[in-house]
Parts: sequence; C-alpha cells; structure tokens
Amino acid sequence: MVNRNRVEEVIGQHGRIGVFFSFGFIFLTLLFKKKEEIMKKFVNTGICICFFLSLVFSGISAQASGHNTVKKPSPDEVLKMLKEGNKRFYTGKSVHPNADQARLKLAGSEDQGKYAYATVITCSDSRVPVELIFDAGVMDIFVIRVAGNVCDTDEIGSIEYGLGHVHTPVMVVLGHTQCGAVTAVTHALNGQGHKLERNIVPLVNNIIPAVKKAKEEHKDVHGDAIIPYAIEENVWLGIHDLFMESPETRNLVKDGSVKVVGAIYDVGTGKIKWLPEEKVMEILKEVEASPDKATNVYAE
Ligand SMILES: [Zn+2]
Repeated sequence: MVNRNRVEEVIGQHGRIGVFFSFGFIFLTLLFKKKEEIMKKFVNTGICICFFLSLVFSGISAQASGHNTVKKPSPDEVLKMLKEGNKRFYTGKSVHPNADQARLKLAGSEDQGKYAYATVITCSDSRVPVELIFDAGVMDIFVIRVAGNVCDTDEIGSIEYGLGHVHTPVMVVLGHTQCGAVTAVTHALNGQGHKLERNIVPLVNNIIPAVKKAKEEHKDVHGDAIIPYAIEENVWLGIHDLFMESPETRNLVKDGSVKVVGAIYDVGTGKIKWLPEEKVMEILKEVEASPDKATNVYAE
C-alpha cells in the first residue's frame, strides 16, 4: 500500500490534472458559447489552450502508467516508509501491502527497478523475515540474505545490482539480536569454539574483525556479554567492507542518490533500532582516505 500509493500518486496526480482540463474545456465551451459575439474570440482561444493542456497532461499520465520513468521516493522518504512499516509490524498493525493478485500481475509485467525502494542485506536467520518486519510486499525490497549479514564479494555484487540496476534509494545493513554467526565467532575467539564445516569457516571469518574490535573497545565486558556489541560492530564492518570494495556504492552515496544505513533487528520484539547515520559518513570518509580501497567502478 505504501509504495504502490506513492507510485499511483504520481500517475493519479497527472491523470487528475488531465481530467480537470478536459472538463474545463467542455465547461467553458458550454458557458461562453451562448454569450455575446465579442467573447467568441476569447473563448475559442481559451478552448484551444485547455485542449492543448489536457493533451499534455494526458500524455504525462500515460507515460507514468506505461513504460517510462515513475518517480521514486527520496532516500529520506524511503527511510520514513521503512520506519513506519516496522512500527506497524511491531505494534501488530501490519497492513500487508502489495501482496494481492494485482501486484503479482504488475510484478510479471513491469521492471522491478520502477518500484523496489530499498536494498536490504540481513542474516539468513529464520527470525528475520524481511518483508514482514518492514510490512512490505512484492517488488518492494531487494533482499540479500547471508548468515551473519557479511559483505563479501557475492553480497557486494548483489548490493551493486540493487543500487545500480534496481535503483533503490536506500541500502540497509541489518544485523539482529542473538545472531548465531556472531555468537559462533565470539565463542571461537573466547576459546570456546567447536569444529565448523569447511564452508562456514571462510564465511564467518568476515566477522572476526568486528568481534575483535568490540572486545578491544569494551575490555570490561566479558564472555557472552560482548555479543550485542559485536553484533553492532558487525553492521559497521559490513558497511566498511561494502565501501572498500564498491566505488559505485561510494559514488551513489556521495552524490546523494543513495543513503546507506545500519540497523539492528530485535528478534524478541520485532523492533528495529536504527543506528546513527553520521557514523556511515565517517566510515565513508575513512574509506575514501584509504589507499587500499577499490577504485574501478566497472570490472575489467
Ligand atoms: Zn544471524
């Protein structure tokens, strides 16, 4: 409902203007045609202008509902939509938008790039069902899910697609409370680890710097109590890794067309804690100053 309304707003607005001028045209014709001869010239000119404007606005309306550009919400508007959607979810007032037959028909015939408003990378954990927690629907969110919401090559490639091709104005790195991947790494670093399957090791290795940083910055916090700090650090690390490896993402953030935000989802309450946006810009600045950052936008 949220996103569709926004898109329909654009279509509807122009359609209404077109209809307004069409009726204006008919009304003026009926009203003034019977008046004095002197009015005729003026009326005819007015009729021509009204007719012309109705054509122009009908054209815009057709364009909006057809195959051309539909105006997307700004990054700040998208953030508001995500926050409101999550609030509906955790307060039990979800409206389950964009999940009907009409939406499916639209999804089958339209480009998702005209509709999807957010790219979200989050954990594979079954307690983090992305569309539900944002009270969103079909063709609303471009989702990347991977254990521990790590940003490695495949994930960053998916994010670049979400931003550069699906053109979502917002990208969220969404960690969550009680994350098993972050917990496993914390236990390993605390000497309580156990054997991991061969492909899990390179995956969770991405998380090690986050847990180490959390431990360094909170030396007075011991055992499992460090896990919530590590979960937050892991979100910042994901954003850092994304910026380091994706000049395209950095460019989109710098020119203001995309906002990257960090957040933590509470699996027990359904509520999302939004992390400070200023910190994202600090990380971007830090990466920009790094000689190790990737610089070629396109593959060679
Ligand atoms: Zn997790």
